[in-house]
Amino acid sequence: MNAYRFFSRDFAQRADAVFLEDGTTRYTYADLERETARYANFYASLDLPPGERVAGQIEKSPQALFMYLGALRAGLAYLPLNTAYRQGELAYFLGDAEPRVVVCDPASEEAFRQLTTGMKGVQLFTLDENGRGTLHDRVHAMADAAPGGNATFATVARATDDLAVILYTSGTTGRSKGAMVTHGNLTSNAATLVEHWRITDRDVLIHALPMFHIHGLFVAIHTILLAGAKILLHKKLYPKALITDLPRATLLMGVPTFYVRLLGETGFTKDVCRNMRLFISGSAPLLLETFTAFQERTGHTILERYGMSESGMITSNPYEGERRGGTVGMPLPGVELRVAGPNLKPMPFDMPGDIQIRGPNVFKGYWRMPEKTKEEFTEDGWFRTGDIGTWTYGGWISIVGRAKDLIISGGYNVYPKEIELLIDDLPGVVESAVIGVPHTDFGEAVVAVIVPEKGTLLKEAEVIGYVKSQLANYKVPKRVHFVDDLPRNTMGKVQKNVLREQYKS
Ligand code: AMP
Repeated sequence: MNAYRFFSRDFAQRADAVFLEDGTTRYTYADLERETARYANFYASLDLPPGERVAGQIEKSPQALFMYLGALRAGLAYLPLNTAYRQGELAYFLGDAEPRVVVCDPASEEAFRQLTTGMKGVQLFTLDENGRGTLHDRVHAMADAAPGGNATFATVARATDDLAVILYTSGTTGRSKGAMVTHGNLTSNAATLVEHWRITDRDVLIHALPMFHIHGLFVAIHTILLAGAKILLHKKLYPKALITDLPRATLLMGVPTFYVRLLGETGFTKDVCRNMRLFISGSAPLLLETFTAFQERTGHTILERYGMSESGMITSNPYEGERRGGTVGMPLPGVELRVAGPNLKPMPFDMPGDIQIRGPNVFKGYWRMPEKTKEEFTEDGWFRTGDIGTWTYGGWISIVGRAKDLIISGGYNVYPKEIELLIDDLPGVVESAVIGVPHTDFGEAVVAVIVPEKGTLLKEAEVIGYVKSQLANYKVPKRVHFVDDLPRNTMGKVQKNVLREQYKS
């Protein structure tokens, strides 16, 4: 079933209910149905076969959401791109995914024109942070000329296993991988979460997450659509604006940084949370210290959950029952999870092992990488998440590390390899190691440790400036240390744990 059809099954009954508030502008469920129909009609006019890609590097707006949902309705696959990606990164994603429709901010239109020149059959459009641009103009010009204003669209039938979205999860070595997320993945995970977190049409969610990632695009949107709830749209996390809206909200989904920032505001009190029902955290580890401070300040216990692009949500602390800080809860209904040791043997309680999963939420593979896909699944069909975890007696799971040294800064994944390769290219650099160290605001901060050639005078600012010119800001090291040698184990591998310990403060 097309995921949009599944999410919209009750839209007709709640046509006049408000779906989303963006400042003073309100959109009802009827508006949502009509606007997504207009986008879908426009895509249909381009005559693209089902499964062709629509890529967007755009700011958050209601129209960005209509554009995404319209693509689902038209049977096309959406490719959301982080707004921080720079030219080199974009060239790879566009080259690999080969979208037929590319939508960018008007400010980067020229750059995108260069990027897409020579790509076969690509059409380029713009959409700005207010939802205006050539895409909006074309969609609405077409609607104005159509009998009935293009307000309806027969959502294209799709099978559970058909591609709905491609999410790029930068690879630890070599190329980034596009996780192929299906319609069935989206619907099964949304239905499970609505039930597990008791989301209903009385809920009001503050949406301050980006819309190019599973957290903001899938978890925070699909659950609301399915439950018929309401969204208060915030462009970004502005703690003061969030606090102003809190008294009329019941639900917040955030990365740990949200909660650290809120606790830093004196205006964040128990009273402003008086109508709140649930605070959810995920995408990166929530420090126990934040969990406890939050409880003390508000009387609310943050519900931490765990998931990833390849699988949507995997575990969650319970809605009723103990939400245990420092853990990510239990496997969600329908999701099978095992903590495996060598030879895929289950590990005993409290012993770390590879977290492996199975279920209708697990993606169907990496885009055009059958070999890589095969490697990431065990022989008996379980997906290797790459996370290291433990079962606690009683059923809670704790994430204790990441097999691949992934850094999560402010909720964004940073793969050290990508930065190391760039730094190693600088003249005067022998080698480098990039690590994550604890940071109160971002969870982890990116730090580079560099071995310079003897006699070269490389400066911290030069390295930072160079990385900044090449990569998204969140990947730029906050500090650079220079050393004579990197610590290595007997197998010659750099001991990043030693570096993390050494530079943690
Ligand atoms: P992404 O695909 O960008 O959502 O990143 C997924 C990765 O984020 C997972 O494989 C975990 O390493 C990490 N992650 C997500 N949620 C949590 C959490 N609650 N605690 C610790 N790590 C998390």
